[in-house]
Amino acid sequence: MKKKVLIIDDEKDILELVSIILSESDISVYRAEDGLSGLEIAREEKPDLILLDIMMPEIDGWEVLKMLKVDEETKDIPVAMLTCKTETRDKVLGIQEGAIDYITKPFAPDGLLTKVEEILTK
Ligand SMILES: [Mg+2]
Repeated sequence: MKKKVLIIDDEKDILELVSIILSESDISVYRAEDGLSGLEIAREEKPDLILLDIMMPEIDGWEVLKMLKVDEETKDIPVAMLTCKTETRDKVLGIQEGAIDYITKPFAPDGLLTKVEEILTK
C-alpha cells in the first residue's frame, strides 16, 4: 500500500518541491499551508509521516506538534520537523515535544527522499 506523507509548510515553493521529490517514490503526498488545515488533514488521512515546518505565521510548528500529540487520533503519527535553524536548542525542544527527526532546509533532493524512506520503513 502507498505510504502517505503530509507536509505542513507555509512556503508554497517548499510544498511543491517536496511533493515533486517524494513522488519519485511510491508515496502519496498531502499538503497544508498552515497548521490548522494540517491538523485537519492529519485526522482525516492518518498519514504515515508528517513533515512539519517550524516557522509559520499564526500557529507555528511547535504548537501544531503539541496539538498532534494531545489528540488520540494523531498522537502516534511520526513527525519530523522542517527547520532552517540548526541550533541545538531547537533539537532538544523537539525531542521533548515528541518529534522524531529533523530535516534542515535547504535540503538536497536525494537526501530528503532517503531520509523519508528511512523513517517510513522503521
Ligand atoms: Mg515557514
